[in-house]
Amino acid sequence: MSQVSDVVQEVIEDVRANGDDAVRRYSQKFDNWSPESFRLSAAEIEKIVASVPPTVIDDIKTVQANVRRFAQAQRDSMHDIEVQTQPGVFLGQKHLPIVASGAYVPGGRYPLTASAHMTVVTAKVAGVERVTACTPPLRGEIPPATVAALHLAGADEIHLLGGVQAVAAMALGTASIARVDLIAGPGNAYVAEAKRQLFGTVGIDLFAGPTEILIVADDAADPFIVAVDLLSQAEHGPDSPAVLITTSSALAEKVVEHIEAILPGMPTNDMAGPAWRDHGEVHVVGTLDEAYTRADTFASEHVQILTRNPREALERMRHYGALFLGEGTCVSYGDKAIGTNHVLPTRGAARYTGGLWVGKYLRTVTYQEVTSPAASAELGELCGRAARVELFEGHARSGDVRAAKYAGAPLSW
Ligand code: NAD
Repeated sequence: MSQVSDVVQEVIEDVRANGDDAVRRYSQKFDNWSPESFRLSAAEIEKIVASVPPTVIDDIKTVQANVRRFAQAQRDSMHDIEVQTQPGVFLGQKHLPIVASGAYVPGGRYPLTASAHMTVVTAKVAGVERVTACTPPLRGEIPPATVAALHLAGADEIHLLGGVQAVAAMALGTASIARVDLIAGPGNAYVAEAKRQLFGTVGIDLFAGPTEILIVADDAADPFIVAVDLLSQAEHGPDSPAVLITTSSALAEKVVEHIEAILPGMPTNDMAGPAWRDHGEVHVVGTLDEAYTRADTFASEHVQILTRNPREALERMRHYGALFLGEGTCVSYGDKAIGTNHVLPTRGAARYTGGLWVGKYLRTVTYQEVTSPAASAELGELCGRAARVELFEGHARSGDVRAAKYAGAPLSW
């Protein structure tokens, strides 16, 4: 990890000092990519979108409608509040959208078109004015479906730029990329580390690094489905953990057999094979209670429940990015189609955060007003006493002058 951290630090410092020149150098170095402009023009976008088959466009629109519907329901659930805590004292809370956000859409290994829906549609539902999107070229080629998804989702700028150089450019701003207030989106270890190092200079959604799957299964689960679903996430990359926790040793054996049989013919065996060999785990436990308890210790990004009564996991589990209940759904639905957000916490971050959602693009702010002089005088006296306990004389005087003024007394320091 320290090697990743050192590389990331070097790139960030160079972009801070040298702006677009550094961005171009690293894009050339890491992606062999240095076009005249990283930003796509409206004419280029139009041409790229026109090259995407209509069925793909239709599917992108359908998935984006699913994501939009769920994000809108989340937005509708966030009400502004105002309460009168005592006569004439009003305290309120509002949710204000971030003005400019950056959408990082990964694309080093696969064109992660779905991440465009997750980061851009959700930002737009929240009311973000300017969404700047960055996605890398895929082995030197423009990823047309990803560009179409970004455009259809409503991205205001699309830059074909990836990795640390893209994250740093959006966070710090360069002559050609205006800085944003928050960067959201998944990515590999370099992207996740860049977001970590730049946090503070820019807001970030969460650490959405290499994908993880954990399946809790009992003896009623179909071992073939378990095997297929474990591999569906292992193919993200060689560093993607795939964990099975089961109450059935017979099921565990069959799952492993299926995985070994599927892997050699799997087109993404180069990712899924090492992921399973190096980060695959099978745990056989005595009871489902033990299974849930053990699953919680992983705080895994995706937890799939393949048991007779999957809904009980809603009550029994505490740590996960997203839960997938029963055989009828799967992590891939969440990744690609169903409408919940697929940008989710990894490496234990599910202990303290959920995934990307409309609320991550909103700032919850408060306000207050005191319209009653009597209430203000009372608060002034309370504030004066409280501030003096902390030796804050200046604070105390703000209370004193109000208490004096509303009692009709002359003002003095
Ligand atoms: P990516 O876009 O994240 O990274 C590609 C970039 O990495 C390149 O543009 C390059 O600039 C940079 N890079 C590659 N090697 C480098 C090196 N040696 N030094 C410096 N920079 C380097 O795409 P990816 O690599 O395909 O990774 C996507 C990741 O996103 C996967 O790990 C996947 O599991 C993860 N993911 C996570 C979630 C989530 O919600 N947690 C969702 C989807 C995907």
